[in-house]
Amino acid sequence: MNAKKSSNPQIAHWSLLIQEFNSEIRHRPGIIMSHIDSISSVPVLNSSDTLDSLIENKLEVCLTLSVEDEVLMMQHADDTLKELILILKKDNEDRTKEEKQKVQNYVLKGNGLFRVINDGAREMLLFVIPKSIVVKFHDLMGHFAVDKTVSKIQELYWFPYMKRYVRRHISMCFECLVNKVPSGKRQGFLHPIPTGRRPFAIVHLDHLGPFVMSSKRNKELLVIIDNKTRFVRLYPVRDT
Ligand SMILES: [Zn+2]
Repeated sequence: MNAKKSSNPQIAHWSLLIQEFNSEIRHRPGIIMSHIDSISSVPVLNSSDTLDSLIENKLEVCLTLSVEDEVLMMQHADDTLKELILILKKDNEDRTKEEKQKVQNYVLKGNGLFRVINDGAREMLLFVIPKSIVVKFHDLMGHFAVDKTVSKIQELYWFPYMKRYVRRHISMCFECLVNKVPSGKRQGFLHPIPTGRRPFAIVHLDHLGPFVMSSKRNKELLVIIDNKTRFVRLYPVRDT
């Protein structure tokens, strides 16, 4: 490498790098270099080390799926939806009366189960999906309110009693309970009040409670504050 310029760009690159150092190059045959590849060429223990066993052993395996594939997987994992799919795979005349009723407004298209939605103006097909999809559209998407969560889901998906279920889900969502923003009119700013020239010229009254009832059966507090001296008096108020 040092003796003559190589036309191989890789070797030329190495040669440039090495020029910076005082170095001596020695050849080591592969037979004494086996430790280098030890991890990547470790033998497979048995032939059942397939994708399935990797998943079973909880190794992280990333799968990239299209929306359709994802829906198909979810539909086939759900017992209720799988039953509808099986009924729809039968010929219409082989279905019992009860089965016909069950699959009313459902169609099977390329293995996927769809709900026929008719809003009067047009007919749409929406993927039928297990209710658990709400977690994806509410919990994992910024905790939208009921209407927005429903409309997001409805762009592609359908499941029975959607709005009722979403409302229930959100009413039990811990994050939403803790971080609830009060609705309605917003509070205004505080206006500082001049202290006044003598004590008790301006007095503030406030009322706090209800609290847990005290041993003396008091439940609320009346607070009186003098604006000049900041004298504070608390009066317990009986449960009336
Ligand atoms: Zn939430």
